Amino acid sequence: MHNQYYSYRDRCPACNSTILKELYRKPYDKPPISEYLESFYSLQGDMKVEYLKDANFTLCECEDCCLIFQKEVPNDYFMKVIYEKWLDPKKAFRQHKENDDLELYGYYAHEISTIIAYLHKVPSKLSFFDFGMGWGKWALMAKGFGCESYGSELSKERMEHAKSNGIKVVTWDEIPEHKFDFINTEQVFEHIPNPLDALIHLKKSLKPDGILKISVPTANNIKHRLKRMDWKAKRGTRNSLNPVAPLEHINCYRRSSLIKMAELASMEEVVIPMKTQYMYTTNWCGAKRVAKNMLLPIYKNILKRKNYLFFRNHHQAL
Ligand SMILES: [Zn+2]
Repeated sequence: MHNQYYSYRDRCPACNSTILKELYRKPYDKPPISEYLESFYSLQGDMKVEYLKDANFTLCECEDCCLIFQKEVPNDYFMKVIYEKWLDPKKAFRQHKENDDLELYGYYAHEISTIIAYLHKVPSKLSFFDFGMGWGKWALMAKGFGCESYGSELSKERMEHAKSNGIKVVTWDEIPEHKFDFINTEQVFEHIPNPLDALIHLKKSLKPDGILKISVPTANNIKHRLKRMDWKAKRGTRNSLNPVAPLEHINCYRRSSLIKMAELASMEEVVIPMKTQYMYTTNWCGAKRVAKNMLLPIYKNILKRKNYLFFRNHHQAL
């Protein structure tokens, strides 16, 4: 029996391939998945088990682009329940106020400076769009630099908050009416049921020389994690299954998945020179931070070990 709150993905959502391999399958309403969900959501909001019946947490791997994805995913209605009820917006807002520190805002400032430098225009001539902007922190920083700043968000509370800070809110249907120099997607594409379609839609609002960023969790050792299947491993540790977190991280990308998906959307990778990345790094606090700052551009540009990529429309003159 199918559960009415789920949709079923029978092809790879990044490249449409039907050559898939099933890696793992367990019912949502039984341990270990039910236990994992209960311990995760009990701290964040009000989870209801009725949504978990007659559905399986099924992980598939695409043999063409190597995306690992969940086959049975929440439909639009259930998605809204998760993001509005299971993850209580009021709790999330308090967390945002208490935890967002100087390091985070410093990072936003660094990232936005790097992008403006790469685009080589004065900020007031640039139009930025943060797709899935959350509370609008990144968008507000872009506004602070003097860019036109737009954002979109599903959650009403978050949208209203961003609006009150002067961010121009764009709905999904309005996206193609705009023309942006830069589209930011930070930890968004791992949550989207149809990422290829979403990318094609977003691309419609990109200026001919504009760029789009996709930043998603990196799990280079995902095969090791999936062998262990340690549902108790803490987030951020070596065995953590957070990159495939049931219901939420429904797409776990390899670099090849992102490149293939972009190709199908007629886009190609853009590499921001390491020099530009170093030039605007601001936080040099402590030896660990210094080492990280030195290594990160190498990790991104040379070793290509980070799921942090920029794309532009195909066939442009350099
Ligand atoms: Zn694929």
